[in-house]
Amino acid sequence: MSALLDASGVTVCYGKIEAVRDVGLRVEPGQVVTVLGANGAGKTTLLSALMGVLPARGAVTFDGRPIGRLSIEARVGAGLGLIPERRELFSTMTVEDNLRLGAFRFGRRERGSLDGMFALFPRLKERRRQLAGTLSGGERQMLAMARALMGRPRLLMLDEPSLGLAPLIVAEVMRTVASLRDQGVSVLLVEQNARAALRVADYGYVLDGGAVVLEGPSRVLEADARVVETYLGVL
Ligand code: ATP
Repeated sequence: MSALLDASGVTVCYGKIEAVRDVGLRVEPGQVVTVLGANGAGKTTLLSALMGVLPARGAVTFDGRPIGRLSIEARVGAGLGLIPERRELFSTMTVEDNLRLGAFRFGRRERGSLDGMFALFPRLKERRRQLAGTLSGGERQMLAMARALMGRPRLLMLDEPSLGLAPLIVAEVMRTVASLRDQGVSVLLVEQNARAALRVADYGYVLDGGAVVLEGPSRVLEADARVVETYLGVL
């Protein structure tokens, strides 16, 4: 199978510091792939490079086409979507207007419908007239996901969607990730919450000091002594 996203030799520097070093990563169509790592491992930097927010060395193809030199807008147009860690909603606008803006911002002809989003996130439907700034953390994450989906990405990149959320809500976010896969959207899931991420992902990479130190199917990683010791803790 040819990969949807295929990155190799990705290196990102902040001045003289190499925050991401020679990273190779693939996402197959219909896969959830997770990138695990501790604080400062380089996860956010890697996503920023894949999205074109930061300049990077290396080769990146999307659907077989080189995208490494494309602008952020062109990458969005090609089908990449990113939800940053801070979720970046418009807090003084309603849930519904945030969603409309998601479709507008991506400027694509074929957009996700509000009804489709409300079917996927019934809770957002109940709260469609509520200001985004008054939503709970979990609802905000749902809205960020729904808004990104309005642009109909083929690959959605999520930066630590579980951050600051209670375990029950984390499980709900991960269920949504799984349902995206069922609908044919591939997901690149960056997480510190290795347990939750490996449960939903098909394949995983472990990033340490900016480099991939381990990769494999989630089941294999879950059982790997180094992953258990460093990222999952003693059961
Ligand atoms: P976290 O889980 O804490 O968000 P992360 O794995 O996403 O961490 P990055 O944010 O990618 O890690 O940071 C990787 C390294 O690059 C860190 O050492 C960080 O201090 C450094 N770094 C990040 N942004 C910058 C910047 N703008 N200028 C200089 N160094 C940076």
